[in-house]
Amino acid sequence: MSRKITATIHLAALQHNLAQIKGHLQSATKIVAVIKADGYGHGLLRVARALYKADMFAVGCLDEAAELRSNAIDKPTLLLEGFEGESELRAISDLKLDTVIHSEEQWGLLQSIVLQKKISIWLKVDTGMSRLGFSPTRAEQILPVLESHPSIDRVVLISHFANANDPTHSLNGEQQQRFEQCCHTIPERSLANSAATILNNSAHYQFVRPGIALYGSSPLLNQGEAGYDLRPAMTLQAPLIAVKKIAQGESVGYGSNWQAPEGAVVGVVAIGYGHGYPRKLTTGTPVLIRGERVTLVGRVSMDLITIDLTSTPAAQVGDMVTLWGEGLPVDEIAAAADTISYELLCQLTSRVVREDG
Ligand SMILES: *Cc1c(COP(=O)(O)O)cnc(C)c1O
Repeated sequence: MSRKITATIHLAALQHNLAQIKGHLQSATKIVAVIKADGYGHGLLRVARALYKADMFAVGCLDEAAELRSNAIDKPTLLLEGFEGESELRAISDLKLDTVIHSEEQWGLLQSIVLQKKISIWLKVDTGMSRLGFSPTRAEQILPVLESHPSIDRVVLISHFANANDPTHSLNGEQQQRFEQCCHTIPERSLANSAATILNNSAHYQFVRPGIALYGSSPLLNQGEAGYDLRPAMTLQAPLIAVKKIAQGESVGYGSNWQAPEGAVVGVVAIGYGHGYPRKLTTGTPVLIRGERVTLVGRVSMDLITIDLTSTPAAQVGDMVTLWGEGLPVDEIAAAADTISYELLCQLTSRVVREDG
C-alpha cells in the first residue's frame, strides 16, 4: 500500500490552459506566464518547462529567476518585485532578466550604477491598489531619465488591478484610465492578471500576465470561466488508511464535534493541516473516493482527516482519496475554507510529493 500524499501535476492541463488563453488574445498580445511562489505550488521548473510556449515568465524574486537560469531555462523573465541592493541589480543584468522598478530606493540604486549589459525596465505605476509602484506623476518624472539611462534598453509600463475578479467594481475603470493616461509615450504596456485577461479585452495591451488561470482555477468572483475551458493542473490525493464502524451517538476526532446521527462508517485519510489541507475545513466539505463525493466529518488533524463512508461500502484501505483537482474544483474547497484557491495551492507543504501526470 502506498502512503504517499501526492499532488499530481497535469502538464497537459497547464498547456491546455495556456492555449485557451492564447486563443482568446489578439495575435500580437504576449503572454507573461506568472510562475511565482514555486509555480503557485505546482513546482517552478516543472511549470516553466510545461509552459515553454509562453512568451515570458514572471517570478517574485531573484532566487526564483536564478533557479530558472541555472536549469537552462533562458526565456525572458520578469522580476515582479524588482531588486534589493547592487549585487541583485548586477545579477539581473548578468542573468538577462527584466525587472520591475517600483520604489525610490530601486530608482536611486539604478541611477547610481552602470551595468555591462543593458536591461529592460518595467516601470510600475500605482493606479489605485496602493501597494507597489510610483504615483503616475512620479512615473512621468522618472521616465525621461530612465529612457536616457545608459544601462537601460527599453521601458515597459506595468500596473496591477486590485479588483479584477469583480467586474462590477468601480475602481477597475479608474485604474485603467489612470494607466492609459500615464506615460502614454511608452508603447509597451501590461495591466491584466488572469481575471482581467478573461473579462476585459481592452486591458490586454501588449502583455497579459495570467497566473491562476494557467493552473486551471477560475479567477472570477462567483462566475464560471466566461467562455474559457480551464482544466485543473493539480489533483491532490491521499490514501485511506483505516475504516471503522461507529455506533449512533459516538463522536469523531478532536473536540468530538461530530457525532454519528446513526450507525456510521468512518474512513481515516492520511492528510491534514501538516500537509497544507486547511484546518478551517469542517464537516460537510466534499472529498472524492471511488469517483463518489463523500464528506469530511469532524476536525482536521495535523496528519489525518476523517470522512463519512456510510454510503460508500466499497471503499477500502489503500484507496486514494481526492481532496481537490480533477472532479473536485479547488475553488469549491477554497470557498469552503473561506479563502481563495491561490492560498490552498501555495500552502501545500513539501511533505506532499509533486508528481508529473
Ligand atoms: C501574481 C501576479 C499576477 C497573476 O495574478 P493571477 O490573479 O494569478 O492571474 C499578475 N501580476 C502581478 C503583478 C502579480 O503579482
